[in-house]
Amino acid sequence: MNKGLEVARGKTKVLYEQQDQPDVLVVTQTDNISAGDGARRNTISGKGRLAAKTTARVFRLLNLCGLPTHYLSGGEDDDDNEMLVRRCDMIPLEVVVRGVAAGSLVRRKPGIVRGSIIVPRMVEFFFKDDANHDPLIEPDEIVRRGIATPQEIGVMSEIARITFEILAHAWRRHQTLLVDLKIEFGRLVDAEGRGNLVIADVIDNDSWRIWPQGREELMLDKQMYRNLAEVRQEDLDRVYGAYEQVAELVGMFPVMRPGMVAIVLEGPEHAAQAEAITAALRPYGLPAMRRIASARLTPSYVLQVIQQLDATFARVVFVTAEGNSSRLAELIDDATTTPVLRFADASVQAESAAQLTAQRVALAAAKTFAVDDTVLFGRVLLVQANARSAIVAADAQLSAPPPPPNGTVA
Ligand code: 5GP
Repeated sequence: MNKGLEVARGKTKVLYEQQDQPDVLVVTQTDNISAGDGARRNTISGKGRLAAKTTARVFRLLNLCGLPTHYLSGGEDDDDNEMLVRRCDMIPLEVVVRGVAAGSLVRRKPGIVRGSIIVPRMVEFFFKDDANHDPLIEPDEIVRRGIATPQEIGVMSEIARITFEILAHAWRRHQTLLVDLKIEFGRLVDAEGRGNLVIADVIDNDSWRIWPQGREELMLDKQMYRNLAEVRQEDLDRVYGAYEQVAELVGMFPVMRPGMVAIVLEGPEHAAQAEAITAALRPYGLPAMRRIASARLTPSYVLQVIQQLDATFARVVFVTAEGNSSRLAELIDDATTTPVLRFADASVQAESAAQLTAQRVALAAAKTFAVDDTVLFGRVLLVQANARSAIVAADAQLSAPPPPPNGTVA
C-alpha cells in the first residue's frame, strides 16, 4: 500500500494519507489497550492485527447490508493490518446503543436492573473529551454547540439502531448476546458524497459488550480488561485469547448464504407477475428462477419440478404466480417442507397494487432467508427503514411552506 504522511493518532490507531488519493486514508490499529480514558495502559502483541480484522469484517458486513460506512477495503488479509477508508470529518460523539442494561447506564440509573432487556433500544450520545471522561450529552446540547444538526442526530440514531440490530443478529447466531455498542460517525469530504454521514472510526472488540449464552461472566470483550484488579501477563494472554476468538467468529458474519427464490407459474399468462416479483427481490440481492407447471393441467409435473428444486437448492423458497382461483400454492405446500408464498392474479389488479403485492411477497421471501443470514436480515431492515423515511420525506414536502413567487428574493 502507498502509505503517506501520518494525519492523526488515537489511543489505539494511526491514520495515514494514501498517496495520490486525497480522499482516502489508511487506518492501522495498534497493539495498545487502555481503560479509564487512558489511566490504565498496556500493550498486547498482535492485538492490532486482530482489531483490524474484526473492524474490517464488521464494516464489510454493514456495507453488504447497505449501510453507509467509510470502509473501502483491506484490514483482513496479509496486508500489514492496513485498512483503506473514505476520508471524512469526524463528529466528536460516541453514539451508544443499548439492548441490555449494563455499564455506565446502571451506574447512572440504579433503578434499572442490570441485565434487563431494553426495548426500544436506547441511543445515547457522549461527547468525546477524555479530560472530562466523555460526558453524556443531550441532543439539544449537541445542536446548541453546533456539533450536529437535528436532522443528523435523527440519521445517526436510526443508523446506530440498525447497526445494533444487525450485529445482535450476527452474534445471536453464535449464541452470544450483544449487550451494547459504541459507534462513531463522520461526514464525507469527497466530492461524490460531501457532507453525507457514514459510520467511521473502528468497530472492534473494544466497541461492544458481548455475553456468550447471555452470561456476563463469560464475556469476551474489552470489559474483561477493564475489570482486572491488577494486570498480570497471564491476564493479558487471556484477553488476547478472547480477542482472537472474537476475530474468528466475526469472520463468519459477512457471509451471504446462497438462497434461491423459485417462482412457479401456473401458466405463461402469469409472466408479468413473475417479472414483478423478480424486480421486487432486487433490493435484497436475492436471485430468482422461473418454472411453468400447472396445478390444473400438469399436477404431477408440478410435483416433479418442486422435488427437483428441493433437491438442487439447500435454501429455497417457492413463490407461485397464479390465478385467483387456482390451487398451485396449495398443491406445492402440501408436498414440501419448504415455505410457499402465493401471489394471486395480477391481471385483475391495478398495476400499482400488483407491484405492492409483489413487494410483500419479496419481503416475505427475504425474511425467510433472514432467519439465518445476517446480510439479508440487514437488507430487510434497510428496505423497511428506507420505506419509512420516504413517507417522512413526503410528509415534510407536503407541509413545507410554498416556494416564494417568481422574482422574490428569499
Ligand atoms: P458504557 O457507557 O456503558 O461504559 O459503554 C457503553 C458501550 O460503549 C460499551 O460497549 C463500551 O464498550 C463502549 N464504549 C464506551 N466508551 C468507549 C470508548 O471510549 N471506546 C470504545 N472503543 N468503546 C467505548
